[in-house]
Parts: sequence; C-alpha cells; structure tokens
Amino acid sequence: MSPEPPGPQSKRRDYLLGLIFNPDLKGPGFFCPRHKQKQMGSRILKRSGDVPTRSLWTKIKDVALTDVTAIAHTGTIQGSLEGLEEILLEADFGVPTTLRLVGEIEGQARRGLIKTQEDFHRALEKAIEDSLRGGSSDPRIIRAASPPTVVLVVGVNGAGKTTFIGKLSDLLNANKMSVLIGAADTFRAGAIDQLRSWAERTGADFVGGTAGSDPASVAFDAMDAGISRGKDVVIVDTAGRLHTSGSLMDEMKKIDRVIGKRLEGAPHETLLVLDGTIGQNAVMQAKTFAEAIPITGLVVTKVDGTAKGGIVLAVHEALNVPVKFLGVGEKATDLIAFDPAEFAREVLEG
Ligand code: GDP
Ligand code: GDP
Ligand code: MG
Repeated sequence: MSPEPPGPQSKRRDYLLGLIFNPDLKGPGFFCPRHKQKQMGSRILKRSGDVPTRSLWTKIKDVALTDVTAIAHTGTIQGSLEGLEEILLEADFGVPTTLRLVGEIEGQARRGLIKTQEDFHRALEKAIEDSLRGGSSDPRIIRAASPPTVVLVVGVNGAGKTTFIGKLSDLLNANKMSVLIGAADTFRAGAIDQLRSWAERTGADFVGGTAGSDPASVAFDAMDAGISRGKDVVIVDTAGRLHTSGSLMDEMKKIDRVIGKRLEGAPHETLLVLDGTIGQNAVMQAKTFAEAIPITGLVVTKVDGTAKGGIVLAVHEALNVPVKFLGVGEKATDLIAFDPAEFAREVLEG
C-alpha cells in the first residue's frame, strides 16, 4: 500500500509534534507550543493575496544606506541617521526603541563594522533580535507544577481576546491537553456565545454565566469546574471595556484575586492581548494594564493586517514582559508562538 498523500491529517500531526512538553519537570515548567513554524515566514505582516509592498528593509536601505556607510568613512555627522529614525518611527517602533536601535547602528558604523549593505542588514536584524531577547523575554507559556494551569486573558474590547482564547484552546487541544474556558466577560450575551462557540469548535469545556452576572463569580465557578474535572488548562476571558475606567480595572483585579483564592499561585499566566494595528496607543494601554495587574505575557494580534511590526518591540521594551504569541488572522490556526529571531527577520522583510 502506498502511503497516504500529505493532507490535513499529516498537518495535524506536525502540529502535535511541535509541543515541547516535559512531564518529568518537578517545579513549574513551560509549554512550548511551536506549531506551524514553517509557515511563519510568509504569514507575518501580510495576508495571502496582499499586493506586494516595499519591505521595511527596502525602505531603510533606500534612505539610510548611504548615511550609514558615510559614517564609516567620514565619522559621525550629528543627526545623519534621521532617515533611519523616521522610518523606524513610522513602523511603530516608538521613540525609546528607535533611538536605541539608531544609536546601536551608528556606534557600529563608527567602529567600522558596517561597510556594506549586508553588514547594515545583519546589524539591524541582530539589534532587533537582541531587543526582543532583552530583559524578561521567554516566550513559553508558564505551566503550573500540577494542573490546572490557569491563564487569565485581559485587554481592551476588540483587541482579539476571545479569538486568541479560541486559537490557544485549539492549539492545546491539538497537543492533547484538556481545556476549560470560563467566560468572565459577562457584559454582553453575544460575547458569551462567541466564546462558547469557540469552546465547542476546539473541544474545550465551557463555563459561562448569564449576561450581566458577576464576572468574578463566573471565574470562581470556572476554576471550580476546571479543578474538579481535572483539566490541564483553565482559560478565563474577561471584559475589556475601556481601560481608562477605574471600575473595570477593579473588576479585573477582583477576578485575579478570586482565581488566586480558589487556587494558590493562579493565575499562572496573565496574558495581555494588544491590537497590533493601533500604533503607540498599544504602549499606553499596556502600561495601564500593567499598573493594575501583574502581566506575564503579551499577545499581539492582527499582525497580519499591519506593516508596522515595530509595535511588538515597543510594547516588549515598555513593559519588560515577554511577547508570547502573535495573532495573524481570524482562524483557529492563525496563531504563532513567538520567536525573536524569526520575527526580526520577518519585520524587515515582510
Ligand atoms: P475581544 O473583544 O478582545 O474579545 O476581541 P475579539 O476576539 O472579539 O476580536 C475582535 C475582532 O478582531 C474580531 O472580528 C476578530 O475576528 C478580529 N481578530 C482577532 N484577532 C485577529 C488577528 O490576529 N488578525 C485579524 N485580521 N483579525 C483578528
Ligand atoms: P473579596 O471580595 O475579595 O472580599 O472576596 P470574596 O471571598 O468575598 O469573593 C469575591 C468574589 O468571588 C465574590 O463576589 C464572588 O464573585 C466570588 N466568589 C467567592 N466565593 C465564591 C463561591 O463560593 N462561588 C462563586 N460562584 N463565587 C464565589
Ligand atoms: Mg471578547
């Protein structure tokens, strides 16, 4: 018999093999759901069918290559890398990250390390990767020493929390882990239904209250159910009305507290979901959330719809919190486990 041609089935197997899961670990460990890596390169920052646009690197090269090589030959001219600075700011790297990257390139150019286009490209890519590897930057999901691992998901309305939870549930399910999803976004009936439908599609149990019920109480019930049913992972969705409203931050803190009361050490992960298309507002949002609640990881969504990948560096540097996932579409499999090296390459070439 001839082997089956590659189809959806074999794709599913790749997905399964991707998880680095250490069952011998005594203490808290990590999930490392590295699926679909091969596809990553072509997915970030563009959708299939998009009209090709000039890559960030092409723009940088056109504007700044002469400046950089001139520094190597004639020494520093103050402000000579303004072109590079402008392009990085335009791509949402934000002021602090941009200044650091420009300073790094300028320093290397002055020391004669950047003479060619290839040197320049390599130096910039390396500086971007280093930025993403700086500080707290482990992209793996923290795993509880004993199940359930509890993941609390926060962020403003429309950021992509519910969609992310669906994707994460699908990924965990494909890695043979049992999941329970709690709908502590009780603000709208539609939000509860949307999450229930993701749970059904991805094989997760679901706990949700009625619209308008107490979100902390739903979180408590979800914890209870997750523990008594022996689930590997409990994921809790939250409401995300404007983060500027104090009472909503209070509600989120209360949910966090109630989860910790039901299970010591939980939540093990508090993931902040940020819309990658809103520019520097994402940095402001991130800071507001981080002041209210300890954030352990960042998820940047809609990276498929923006050419401004610099925001990923900007939020990482602003919070000193690892980026853990990128959302690259609306489907269950449009989730990428973050990889600094790959992202550094993609942000320039994508
Ligand atoms: P929530 O209010 O934070 O729960 O956000 P939702 O999960 O409901 O998402 C808001 C909208 O963004 C929905 O239309 C999603 O389909 C869409 N969305 C979420 N993540 C992504 C993504 O990674 N890429 C794209 N293109 N759209 C996304
Ligand atoms: P405090 O508000 O920090 O004083 O903590 P509490 O123990 O009073 O509980 C806070 C919230 O947790 C309550 O408003 C409920 O939403 C939730 N909660 C606490 N215990 C239970 C419980 O046994 N069942 C349910 N469903 N929710 C609970
Ligand atoms: Mg939602």
